[in-house]
This record gives sequence, structure tokens and C-alpha cells, in this order.
Amino acid sequence: MSAQLLDGKAMSDELRQEIAARVAALKAKGVVPGLAVILVGEDPASQIYVRNKGIACEQTGVYSRTIRMPAESTQQQLEDEIRRLNADKRIHGILVQLPLPAHLDESAALAAVAPEKDVDGFHMINAGRLMNGQPGVTPCTPKGAMEMIRRTGADLRGKHAVVVGRSNIVGKPMAMLLLQADCTVTVCHSKTRNLADFTRDADILVAAAGRARFITADMVKPGAIVIDVGINRVDGKVVGDVDFDVVKEVAGWITPVPGGVGRMTITMLLKNTLEAAERAGC
Ligand code: NDP
Repeated sequence: MSAQLLDGKAMSDELRQEIAARVAALKAKGVVPGLAVILVGEDPASQIYVRNKGIACEQTGVYSRTIRMPAESTQQQLEDEIRRLNADKRIHGILVQLPLPAHLDESAALAAVAPEKDVDGFHMINAGRLMNGQPGVTPCTPKGAMEMIRRTGADLRGKHAVVVGRSNIVGKPMAMLLLQADCTVTVCHSKTRNLADFTRDADILVAAAGRARFITADMVKPGAIVIDVGINRVDGKVVGDVDFDVVKEVAGWITPVPGGVGRMTITMLLKNTLEAAERAGC
């Protein structure tokens, strides 16, 4: 392997120790950071994510509460629950686990979360703040990916960053963060022609398309920083969007899946919750 590994587990362990210390300092002032996760229905993947978030909270001393609602809950019931949590002083962060059952309006639910408690960073206000370069809550996955890029120590100014994927939760905020870091950013998507022409020119390549192992070695510039956001299941195994075994021979830096961006995402959720509590506590 020629690429250096960007180990999300090791970075997360280090960051979570720092978070735990800040949580303890806040507790000493009488504020216990609190995260509420709303889970509607029985989606198996969501159940696992929610459980992992609860464990991470416990490890760092963050108070966590999971609100389980039946799959047939109405929009009104969901938004009433969100409003209750908006008013709850023990809760500093609210996360609505996505996807919601098809009959529920995801955008309306996210808009009901108080922007200062929106630790996912999905509220329009926080999206707008990110777009305008103002302080706000940054979505956890791009925030974690950016932290990994920074930890390479590379000077990012003027570097060509290519983001494959333009979703509101990953691709677009990722592009904004890279722009703020003075990269020259290209965003690719399913209608992009000759994708490899763009990816081959990337000093920093972020793959967030949800296509198993579709970034191959010939699509990567030698020495590039390759960040794999994808989580795909193939024959019962979790794999990324990057064909890790071959791309690691070309890239300069690479994130594994699992143990890469996914791990950092939960760490950034803890950080966003802590920061929300610090802001509320002062
Ligand atoms: P979406 O499905 O919302 O978006 C996928 C994006 O990829 C779209 O913009 C789509 O283009 C683009 N795309 C799809 N196929 C291609 C292709 N062949 N070539 C170029 N672009 C393509 O997914 P998310 O953004 O929510 O998630 C992306 C991946 O990241 C998924 O695997 C998801 O599981 C994972 N994920 C991982 C997280 C983590 O913690 N590691 C957190 C969140 C997501 P278009 O807009 O034209 O349709």
C-alpha cells in the first residue's frame, strides 16, 4: 500500500477524549449536554445507527434520549414531539433519524427543529449560514470528512477538490467547506459527462454517490487525498464508493470503509451537541 491511511477510528478516539474532557468541564458548571434522537418506525439500519449514537454519547458523558415513535405516526405527532424537545432545557441537540416513513414530510420535520438545537446541521438556517460563511451548525459527515482532510497536513489553498455527489446532507455542504478552505471545487453528479476526466484531476477527491467501489484506480490522480463517504452493502459486507484495494496503490491518502468517515460522523455529532450545550450554557 502506497497511500497513508486516514484512520477514522484512531482520530475519533482522540477527538472523543477531547470531547469527554470538555463535557466534564461543562458538567462542573452544572450543564449536562443532552442529545435527543427521534426514531420513527423500525428501519433496521436506522436502529443500528441510533444504538451506536447512544453508545457514543455514553462514552463521552453526553446525556442521550431516544424517542421511538410508531411507523404510522402522523406529521402532527412528529412535529409536536420536536416542539416538546425544542422547549426541553435538558436537550441541546435534536436529531430526526432519516429516512422517515414515506408518508411523512422530511423537510417540514427538519424545519421544525430549533436551529440552535439542529445538531445535524440540516435546518435551512444552518444551510444558509454555511453558504454565507457565517457561524452555524455544520452537517456531521462533511465536517468529519473535512477534519480528516485537514489532518493530512496538506496546504489546501488552490487545490482542486472534486466532490462526487450533490445531496443536501453530504455533497453540497462538503463543497462549501472545501470552498471555505480556499480549494477550487468541482461538484459532479449523475448527469456529469466523463466523470473520470474530473476525478483524475482531483488533488482531493470526495466520493459520496452511494455506488459500491465505483471509483477505480484509473480515476484517481497519483498522490491524491481520497475521502470515501459511501456506505454500500455488497454480499453482506459494507464497502465504500472507492475500490479501496486498488486505489490505495495510487492515492497519497485514503480513508477506509468501515472505520473511516462513518466513525467521524458520529464523533462530529457529539461535538455539535457539546458546542450547542456550551452556547446554551453561557
Ligand atoms: P444521495 O443518494 O442523496 O446522493 C447521491 C449523489 O450521488 C447524488 O447527487 C447523485 O447525483 C450522485 N450520483 C449517483 N450516482 C452517480 C454516478 N454514477 N456518478 C456521479 N454521481 C452520482 O446520497 P447521500 O449524499 O445521502 O449519501 C451518499 C453516500 O454516502 C451513500 O452511500 C450513503 O450511504 C453515504 N453516507 C455516509 C455517511 C457516513 O457517515 N459515512 C453519512 C451519510 C451518507 P444526482 O444528484 O444527479 O442524482
